[in-house]
Amino acid sequence: MRYISTRGQAPALSFEEVVLTGMASDGGLYVPETLPEFSRDELADMAGLSYAEIAFRVMKPFVNGEIDDATFQSIVTEAYATFNHDAVLPLKQLDANHFLLEQFHGPTLAFKDVALQLLGRLLDHFLKKRGERAVIMGATSGDTGSAAIEGCRHCDNLDIFILHPHNRVSEVQRRQMTSVLANNVFNIAIEGNFDDAQAMVKASFADQSFLNGTRLVAVNSINWARIMAQIVYYIASGVALGAPHREVSFCVPSANFGNVFAGYMAYKMGLPVKQFIIATNANDILHRTLTANDFSKKELAATLAPSMDIVVSSNFERLLFDAYDRDGLAVAALLERFQQEPTALADAPLATLREKFSSYSVDDATILEAIRDAHKRTGEMLDPHTATGYRAAERARADQSTPMITLATAHPAKFAEAVVKAGFPGVPLPPHMEDLIEREERYTVLPAELAAVQQYVVENRR
Ligand SMILES: *Cc1c(COP(=O)(O)O)cnc(C)c1O
Repeated sequence: MRYISTRGQAPALSFEEVVLTGMASDGGLYVPETLPEFSRDELADMAGLSYAEIAFRVMKPFVNGEIDDATFQSIVTEAYATFNHDAVLPLKQLDANHFLLEQFHGPTLAFKDVALQLLGRLLDHFLKKRGERAVIMGATSGDTGSAAIEGCRHCDNLDIFILHPHNRVSEVQRRQMTSVLANNVFNIAIEGNFDDAQAMVKASFADQSFLNGTRLVAVNSINWARIMAQIVYYIASGVALGAPHREVSFCVPSANFGNVFAGYMAYKMGLPVKQFIIATNANDILHRTLTANDFSKKELAATLAPSMDIVVSSNFERLLFDAYDRDGLAVAALLERFQQEPTALADAPLATLREKFSSYSVDDATILEAIRDAHKRTGEMLDPHTATGYRAAERARADQSTPMITLATAHPAKFAEAVVKAGFPGVPLPPHMEDLIEREERYTVLPAELAAVQQYVVENRR
């Protein structure tokens, strides 16, 4: 299997190369040239297997024999052994036919652990095989940074530098990063805002000469391996609820579109899916595009669901590539226009998207109302991201007879501020993190100056 760019102008890559590469050289994102498909029998056979075993079966075709089966199986088993629930991603029933897929039992209490626990280990495996070391740089306003640090803390061949805006992330989120004292983990608190931090990371990727040839790796959601790891839980939860013998639907709190795009891949690989609902907060580019064909940027709004605060939805490009019949030049033209001015999708691709996808946008008041409502009706405490999904699933659902699976993307303790605003006293951290507030922290405060950050990276990488 080869991987090709959504803009059609970059060379095709192997699995190993695509794991080690972020964006394609033509500005596009990598996708598999062809998708593996599972027969009904193969899907039915997965029901009742452990999460790690389903993960191995679903991802094996993408790995394409580039890692031997026994090694890949142990990578997968180790990645999901870090989760604090025997089911890894348990399903909970909310009402007669509505289920919650809890994605927050990993080390940092949000769904990004599912992909990053695997990605860190895959990177380490390939680097070791090549006898290379690499540096990871990333900027974070919260969830991605801690999940990346947890995914890489045991990797011998990686040094990870995560920039966060000094005094501008929540205490829980900061401590989840800074209390990891591994000697390959470097937290940098930038005297500036998130955009300053991100601009320095982008500049470092654009000109990597400061690293003198050491590979710089991105772990943001444009890395194909992150999508691949996320396909697994759609199939695992679908077969648990009766697929392939019946259809299932999913409602996904969405921002950069990585999570729900993985669901679409599962559908293309044979999982019978009736409907995908894209839930957004007030940053509603996906909802405006699907309902009003308004594919345009809008000013960023700070919401109660901060991990969904985006202007542009980077992985949407992967879906557009499919909707435009894999015409990379058409996708490139559309996205270049989108960067300049408000634009719209062509009629045929829009109609294709609307066959499977619906959307719903939820404002902050509705998030609080949904947290209270879910608690009253089910006893479940939802985090504000999951609350967007809970409300969207009810409002945008096509039919009641198909099981609806809403993805619970974060643990409510991680976003306790919203829970308190909804009128509750707060949410305790789960037992394995109870002492987070007492743990020793380590981080370095640096000015928002590229030269200072790059000098720190060069001096500290091992
Ligand atoms: C990252 C994140 C999302 C959005 O996921 P995308 O893949 O970017 O669509 C939703 N909820 C939480 C808690 C997140 O951390």
